Amino acid sequence: MPHILETSIEFLKGVGPQRAELLRNELGIYNYQDLLEHYPYRYIDRSSYTSVLDLPNAENHVQVKGWIESIKEVGVGRAKKLLARFRDKTGAIDLIWFQGGNWIKAQLQVNVAYQLFGKPKLYGNSWNIPHPELTPLAEVQRHTGFQPLYPSTEKLSAKGLHSRGLEKLIHTLLQQIVGKIEDPFAHWMIQSHKFVGKEEAVFRIHQPNNLREIEGARFRLKFEEMFFLQLELLIKKGKNEKESKGHVFETTGEFFNAFYSLHMPFELTNAQKRVIKEIRKDLGSGKHMNRLVQGDVGSGKTLVALLCMLIANGNGFQAALMAPTEILAIQHYEGIKALLGGLSVGIHLLTGSTKKSDRNIIHKALENGTCQLLIGTHALLEDPVQFHNLGLVVIDEQHRFGVAQRARMRAKNAIAPHILIMTATPIPRTLAMTFYGDLDVSVIDELPPGRKPISTIHRYESHRLALLGFMKKEIDKGRQVYVVFPLIKESESMDFHNLMDGFEAISRYFPMPHYQVSIVHGKLKPEVKDYEMQRFVRGETHIMVATTVIEVGVNVPNASVMVIESAERFGLSQLHQLRGRVGRGAEKSYCILMTGDALSKESKKRMDTMVETQDGFEISEVDLQLRGPGDLMGTQQSGALQFKIVNLAKDGQIIQLARNTVQELIAKDYALEQAEHQRIKIVLHSLLANKPNWGKIA
Ligand code: ADP
Ligand code: MG
Repeated sequence: MPHILETSIEFLKGVGPQRAELLRNELGIYNYQDLLEHYPYRYIDRSSYTSVLDLPNAENHVQVKGWIESIKEVGVGRAKKLLARFRDKTGAIDLIWFQGGNWIKAQLQVNVAYQLFGKPKLYGNSWNIPHPELTPLAEVQRHTGFQPLYPSTEKLSAKGLHSRGLEKLIHTLLQQIVGKIEDPFAHWMIQSHKFVGKEEAVFRIHQPNNLREIEGARFRLKFEEMFFLQLELLIKKGKNEKESKGHVFETTGEFFNAFYSLHMPFELTNAQKRVIKEIRKDLGSGKHMNRLVQGDVGSGKTLVALLCMLIANGNGFQAALMAPTEILAIQHYEGIKALLGGLSVGIHLLTGSTKKSDRNIIHKALENGTCQLLIGTHALLEDPVQFHNLGLVVIDEQHRFGVAQRARMRAKNAIAPHILIMTATPIPRTLAMTFYGDLDVSVIDELPPGRKPISTIHRYESHRLALLGFMKKEIDKGRQVYVVFPLIKESESMDFHNLMDGFEAISRYFPMPHYQVSIVHGKLKPEVKDYEMQRFVRGETHIMVATTVIEVGVNVPNASVMVIESAERFGLSQLHQLRGRVGRGAEKSYCILMTGDALSKESKKRMDTMVETQDGFEISEVDLQLRGPGDLMGTQQSGALQFKIVNLAKDGQIIQLARNTVQELIAKDYALEQAEHQRIKIVLHSLLANKPNWGKIA
């Protein structure tokens, strides 16, 4: 027999077919359970009264007891409004109605005690309360608790299902299900976290009496939501480790060893060593590796990738490195080729613009195994590419790679190649635990020695002349300068215009032939882009005017100044990435954020954060707080971020706690066979049945 919570919402008293359809379409509420999980976003304290004197300090809605002293209409025609003077023992305040004045005036009585409910606003320099609710005190039912506010929509409100209407429905529902909510958690879990029980949490979240009850209920329900997500991820991870076999790389092999002893350009940092060790362990284990390496810009991920690929080669396997852009692929190819020196490793570059004839040669070399190291863009994923025995895939800057692409890469061989994902956009721990919860994560948390901090300066438009003078001084000292403009799809033509204007202005200030200015943007043909890029890399041009195509990867140690135009239009992580283009050489480097004079509070916070810190993890935390997880991870994955009560930006500790508890549970009873874990199993299965896409995230 289906559980009462599975009853269609249509059958709840007060709903019916019409409202049911609206609830489904507008809020995704199909059954009783969905309605129960439609949680309040805020509460109003109905248990206490504020005095008129204290109103200016109130941040939200307030309740006041008092009486109306006088009522009058002011203004004429459309500007007509109703004003009432409301008083208690401590003082008086104006109530104001912009509409419906006549009707309200007829209802209100002077010198009768009322309960007032509303939100004080400051108009000019006096406080008043627009459109308050007034209830004669004699008619007030004693409210002792907190009134929940529910999210609703215009269409629902039009049918009486505004917050109050939803509150009534939920009240009806709660009365029907008393005693029928089972707690999925085992006794030991409830004990160790001192939770309130499930039923109590459900009642308290909707009908709390005080703040403590709200907190307790929220904690319990957030924990539960995260618990089941982590359970799903960790079971998947366990399954992957148990069931999917991986190639075994038994030794480090001749290539690794030869490179390590003869070609290493510098001593590895401790963080690099640690991460390579972690990867080595995976590769030798017989399990299929799925590892994410996070490391700030410039932390030396390429070298780590190369060493791991050489291990694959040394064990008789091919390895591939995928980059998100052509420029980056080329730079990896050239950089790695130079690093390898005389080492006889068959290495090829394959991108969208590889000539057909070369392409055929590369395909052959891949099929017969003479190409051991393939570097490229997602052209690597095109169908005709067949490997002889692909053992390891490194995905650089995975942020730009879709989930589907990763899946395709895995599907290319009978035994899936090991996968190593590299990202320079540090992901806050909470997001990593949620998005990559079934991956292993390594962190390169140390920069190679000798890096000088980059001076970051925020300048307003009015300082432009000083900026140009500064650029000139640096260029005359022999440095190179980036100037980056935003180019964002929706406003592309205007952005493009600004870019070209900026380029012209710079070219005028830095005239040829003494100064050389390059420009690179997405509309250029790849050959032209590459040519200009190479000129800058070789030091033939002094200034590189560009859009964010240069965001990832390019390495020009002599470039010491990064100017970011309209910096307020970039996200924090992107600004941090851009800044990482400089500070790679011996010279003192600068990042200058140019913004318009009027900045929103949020933009100002972003600029300040950039000026204050260079720690990518710290920056990504602020970014998460400011923009929310959806924007941070890209729209592609934001569907997976629809939580009912958890807020990824704020609930990091609860997420960690849930993950730890899941680990404890799995260690006790991996298959969830014990009697006290049966309810967990049932809930998990029903969640999986309703969310077929969860499994595809990583
Ligand atoms: P990212 O992590 O951003 O991909 P790269 O791999 O491009 O960083 O490395 C940035 C720079 O640091 C490169 O010039 C690289 O040669 C250098 N580098 C990497 N590892 C070390 C090290 N252990 N010591 C000194 N320099 C290093
Ligand atoms: Mg890199």
